Amino acid sequence: MAIVIVNLITSFMFPHEVYLSVLFAFSSNVIGLIAVMKNIKNKADIGLSLCFALFLCALLFVLVKAPLHIDPVSFYENFYYWLLIFIPGFICGTTIFIFLRYVIEQNHELAELAHIDPLMGLANRRFAFELINKNISYMNRKKRTYSVVMTDLDHVKSVNDTYGHPAGDSVIVKFAQVILNVVREYDVAFRYGGEEFLLFLPDTDISQAEEIANRIRRSLKAEPLVAEGKSFVVTASFGVASGNVNAAFTDVVSVADKALYQAKQDGRDKVVSFNDNEREQSENYAHAT
Ligand code: GH3
Ligand code: MG
Repeated sequence: MAIVIVNLITSFMFPHEVYLSVLFAFSSNVIGLIAVMKNIKNKADIGLSLCFALFLCALLFVLVKAPLHIDPVSFYENFYYWLLIFIPGFICGTTIFIFLRYVIEQNHELAELAHIDPLMGLANRRFAFELINKNISYMNRKKRTYSVVMTDLDHVKSVNDTYGHPAGDSVIVKFAQVILNVVREYDVAFRYGGEEFLLFLPDTDISQAEEIANRIRRSLKAEPLVAEGKSFVVTASFGVASGNVNAAFTDVVSVADKALYQAKQDGRDKVVSFNDNEREQSENYAHAT
């Protein structure tokens, strides 16, 4: 927008030298074109670039045609009809594409709001289940294994009681950030309950899932939080289960939930995995060093 305004102002910069005014408008238009082309994100930006390019051609035409020291009156008389096309055309074109750009950006923001929990930066519950269902159909078709990690922060109630509810909130946000930093792009992580999160890990067997859970557990412990001037460490417990074409997703989640319960029973700050087929417990008590 700023470029359009500069463009129009520069057309009147040199009231007695039409040639210089057009030259100035030409240069600012080149800058405008480069700026827009460097930032092309959608079709509206392409349209905007075309507008600038067309206007550049028009200015070039004027530069070639206009004599060097022509006074504005005779210039505007000579180019009156051309100017009637150039300037309104440029203004209309840029306005349409700037407006379209705004509408497209708003739509993107709304779509993101509908999918992402703004506080956590994670997928919201509805979107997460959509992604998981699509993923599971694909995994089942390809007969691949996936894993589910259920995780719950330890003693959040006492964080709330000791440091206040906002500190409890920031612990949950921190935990979401740690999860986001560890999971891969194609994993799905979301807030399952108050301070409980579910991770869906496609193409991941149980031992890889244990490793991911342990990485999150260690990262959380490695970064103490500060509230009321005091630093404190929060931990989390993890339950891991894996599924394949023979297992219903809800059953896998319930096995992961049982494993999480076991991790809590065993003293928290632990990763416990239950083998989905044999319901055989294999515990991983790897403490952070
Ligand atoms: P543990 O999981 O280790 O057994 O203990 P806990 O204290 O974390 O207990 P539980 O998992 O049952 O968590 C329930 C508490 O979590 C109650 C509530 O105060 C807190 N909580 C849940 N959601 C939120 C939230 O959004 N913000 C805050 N500050 N606290 C929350
Ligand atoms: Mg808890």
